[in-house]
Amino acid sequence: MNARPAPEFPQWPQHDDAERDGLIRALEQGQWWRMGGSEVDSFEREFAAHHGAQHALAVTNGTHALELALQCMGVGPGTEVIVPGFTFISSSQAAQRLGAVVVPVDVDPDTYNIDPAAAAAAITPRTRVVMPVHMAGLMADMDALGKIAAETGVDLLQDAAHAHGARWQGKRVGELGTVAAFSFQNGKLMTAGEGGAVLFPDEAMHETAFLRHSCGRPRDDRRYFHKIAGSNMRINEFSAAVLRAQLSRLDDQIALRDERWTLLSRLLGEIDGVLPQGGDVRADRNSHYMAMFRVPGRTEEERNTLVDRLVAAGLPAFAAFRAIYRTDAFWEMGAPDTTAAELAERCPNSDAISADGVWLHHRVLLADEQAVRATAEIVAETLGSL
Ligand SMILES: *Cc1c(COP(=O)(O)O)cnc(C)c1O
Repeated sequence: MNARPAPEFPQWPQHDDAERDGLIRALEQGQWWRMGGSEVDSFEREFAAHHGAQHALAVTNGTHALELALQCMGVGPGTEVIVPGFTFISSSQAAQRLGAVVVPVDVDPDTYNIDPAAAAAAITPRTRVVMPVHMAGLMADMDALGKIAAETGVDLLQDAAHAHGARWQGKRVGELGTVAAFSFQNGKLMTAGEGGAVLFPDEAMHETAFLRHSCGRPRDDRRYFHKIAGSNMRINEFSAAVLRAQLSRLDDQIALRDERWTLLSRLLGEIDGVLPQGGDVRADRNSHYMAMFRVPGRTEEERNTLVDRLVAAGLPAFAAFRAIYRTDAFWEMGAPDTTAAELAERCPNSDAISADGVWLHHRVLLADEQAVRATAEIVAETLGSL
């Protein structure tokens, strides 16, 4: 193989004086939890406003955000949640932890997002929630899903762990009328190392979620009146202060990523045997959490070798998520009464993408044009030499 210098990509996460000032502000408040400080309250207002939602609740992480949202939506034992077969495992684990049964359905082979027709076909009288995941920040078909929800009475929960700042037909995630859950884990588009948030379209559910995320205890309680069952999913003041700074940088970074993805996806598309993730034209602002592509016709082993060699050449490359039903974890609790082989047959696209999909960290899309061109050249050369 050619010995070419590795392209230079920016670091992630990024910070400047805004984070530093925020941390010191939180430190010097004297109160480091949300019950005494103001950073979490401020961040929730700013995050909700930024996404066009009425209410936001910040929590410990994205997995808890999903779990809390599902619980507030009535998910528990005896209910079913429909989840794309191709997603990060938190989407299904959150529902399974609540004692619900997870029903995986297939995704679109081009956008990697939940197939609305497959979701509609999987609805039973026990279905409470359908969970679209906006894969890599490319929005799922919220029109078709909204129609299914209206016709069947099933609710939608957007797993927006990749979709901070994204838009569908001009509408922000919080303007689509459904609950939405976000992650602020280290790699996500805004981060405090860990963290999560839930957007709520209505006040009552937001109030319930506040209680559940704080051991069922009202804000001003001094006599230990725990009103409902809950847990402690409270985020701390330091994280919220950092997230306020991160939010202020989000839109400019999305604009840059979008410009770079336009170039990178075109260059990747010109390579024989590479199929970049396709967007839906109605998704008019994609936040690009990952740069994803497929190498159809290659075996899973060849894909793995490709990823290893891309890493050796200096690219932050990873294998695509494993289809959820192909993990041991999926079958421990809350699995449907079927087998992995049967689900694989029902979800051929999820199965194929998990075997031939590759993703690059969004740092690649924050780099200069030259590094983006070099990235495509490395993919072409590496794949060609497999
Ligand atoms: C990251 C992620 C989550 C979970 O977020 P954490 O903050 O890591 O718990 C949920 N869903 C998807 C699709 C994710 O990528």
